[in-house]
Amino acid sequence: MKNNIHKNDFDYFPNPYGENDEILKLLNDVSRILCGWFSQAESLSPLPIESSFITSFPEESSCSKETLLSEINDLIYSSYNPSHPGSLANLDPPPLILSIVGELISGALNNNLLAQELSPSISRLEKEICEWLSMKIGFSKQSGGIAASGGTLSNLNALVTARHIAGVNYDPNASFIISEDAHSSFKKFTRILGIKGENLIEIETDINGCMNVDSLIDKLAICKKNGKKVFAVIATFGTTIRGAIDPIDEISRICKTHNIWLHVDGSIGGVFAIFRNKIKGIYQLKDVNSVTINPQKILGITKTSSVLLINNINHLKETFKTGLPYIYTPENSFNLGEFGIQGTRSAEIIKLWLGLRYLGLAGIEDILNSSIEKRVIFENFLDINKFKITTGPLHIISFIPKGYGQEKLEKWTFDVQKYLKKNNFMISRPVHKRKYLLRVVFGNFNTKKTDIKKLANLINNQ
Ligand SMILES: *Cc1c(COP(=O)(O)O)cnc(C)c1O
Repeated sequence: MKNNIHKNDFDYFPNPYGENDEILKLLNDVSRILCGWFSQAESLSPLPIESSFITSFPEESSCSKETLLSEINDLIYSSYNPSHPGSLANLDPPPLILSIVGELISGALNNNLLAQELSPSISRLEKEICEWLSMKIGFSKQSGGIAASGGTLSNLNALVTARHIAGVNYDPNASFIISEDAHSSFKKFTRILGIKGENLIEIETDINGCMNVDSLIDKLAICKKNGKKVFAVIATFGTTIRGAIDPIDEISRICKTHNIWLHVDGSIGGVFAIFRNKIKGIYQLKDVNSVTINPQKILGITKTSSVLLINNINHLKETFKTGLPYIYTPENSFNLGEFGIQGTRSAEIIKLWLGLRYLGLAGIEDILNSSIEKRVIFENFLDINKFKITTGPLHIISFIPKGYGQEKLEKWTFDVQKYLKKNNFMISRPVHKRKYLLRVVFGNFNTKKTDIKKLANLINNQ
């Protein structure tokens, strides 16, 4: 049976009656273009020099396979190229091979994580992988988690839960605390949650970019005096610009005393906290209420891959349970659509599961350790007489020339970033406390020691 109105190269949907050789061929053709792009990654540049891609639109009749493949080719070669060894700007590593496979499987299965009956094995997979990650943190037996499309949503899941559990959903004094180096998404949350700007309380960071604990204690006392109801403190495990880690243990003790939810935004460092055995002992996360991790940012699980881990899964259930009247839900089953903000959700857990399973604990540690080693190598090559360097224990490093004022910095960082781009190094130019700086993120497994040395030399001579 041929359903198509026009003559196509293949059917609309996979053929449920017999062979699917045309799909197999199409997947092969696309895979060949992609693998060709991977193979050339180093000879291209991090960003395309010029874009050959032009947006095309549906026409009356079906588009031929040849045209589609040529447009796909243009799109690929006009894209950001994370596999280039000089792609060091942000938290966007090359794609892990097994997670590409996971993405394909997820698309092909087209299951829905909203409800268990629409994704029987994958709902269980997500629940159990989250439980496994929670146990690795050292969370309680009641722990678990939920995946979401990115760290912003994982953090929002945590904040909505913390406010609900504190019983201040409708309280105009409901407040939460972040450090001044916390991620910009927390400002969005005040608008989403209807929290006044003055009830987003910022704590100064110290010279290392970590939340100042004495200020936290002082601010909590002031909040109490002013009748503010602080429902959450957010500590950051790996700040976006400096890679700093807030003093989680001390903050956790303070939160316990005040009975306040402690959420750790580990969008950058959470994976290090869980898997890098050498530093695990130093940063205990087991006593916090919730942790966001973003495997998309360091392990190369393809975007998006983020998980909120929570010490007591019942808190998510209490917050998001609505009942799903259109879904058959027998006893002892669970619908992940009732554990977080998102409803329909793709099976992103497959690529995380396959990626982690393939790497194994040794492979994961290899990626994490090598990223830190690369930062250290770069730090050692940079001219310390010339540059003021800021870094934390992770893989992120920032620097500016010593003795430059605001205006001079703006121009210097702009010129150097442009110059490096010409030399096939893409690094970022964030603004921190109103000053421009240059930042390198060593999350690219393809970057070699020779590349790092070359980059440092180019910078030292500026
Ligand atoms: C990237 C980041 C986020 C947001 O994650 P997305 O996946 O971009 O939504 C939150 N917090 C920190 C510290 C981050 O670096």
